[in-house]
Amino acid sequence: MKAVTVIPLVKDSLALRDMPKPSPKRGQVLLGPIEVGVCGTDKDIIEGRYGAPPPGEEYLILGHEAVAEVIELGDGVDNVGVGDIVVPTVRRPTTCTLPITELDYCPRGTYAEHGIWYLHGFAAEFAVTDSQYLVKVPKEPSMLPYSRSH
Ligand SMILES: [Zn+2]
Repeated sequence: MKAVTVIPLVKDSLALRDMPKPSPKRGQVLLGPIEVGVCGTDKDIIEGRYGAPPPGEEYLILGHEAVAEVIELGDGVDNVGVGDIVVPTVRRPTTCTLPITELDYCPRGTYAEHGIWYLHGFAAEFAVTDSQYLVKVPKEPSMLPYSRSH
């Protein structure tokens, strides 16, 4: 699949690369990103200021702000269905023990973040994430900023 990648901490390593299509594990979903935001954090990552790839990998797929369609469910997923439109939140606790609604307060080093620290982001044809961190949004195209036809 095509993905927007960087080599973290390497300035101007931004490139569209072919990356393996991910598969959802238990509790995860396969997403088809529809729209991906670009912000100052992405600029900092592209300029090599910070970011980290998933363990054992060289590249990091960018994109931490997205709207996506649920394409496939991993085993045990029952909170969303195929075809749902969702916003995946960015942060996943690693050692942080705060409740799911308070993850923004986790101390640095106790979490991973899609597209920033240790987890691939959503600027790709496909992405996987844990289903419990998805926020469902309305399916009506008028509720989305742009349709897939753009
Ligand atoms: Zn951002």
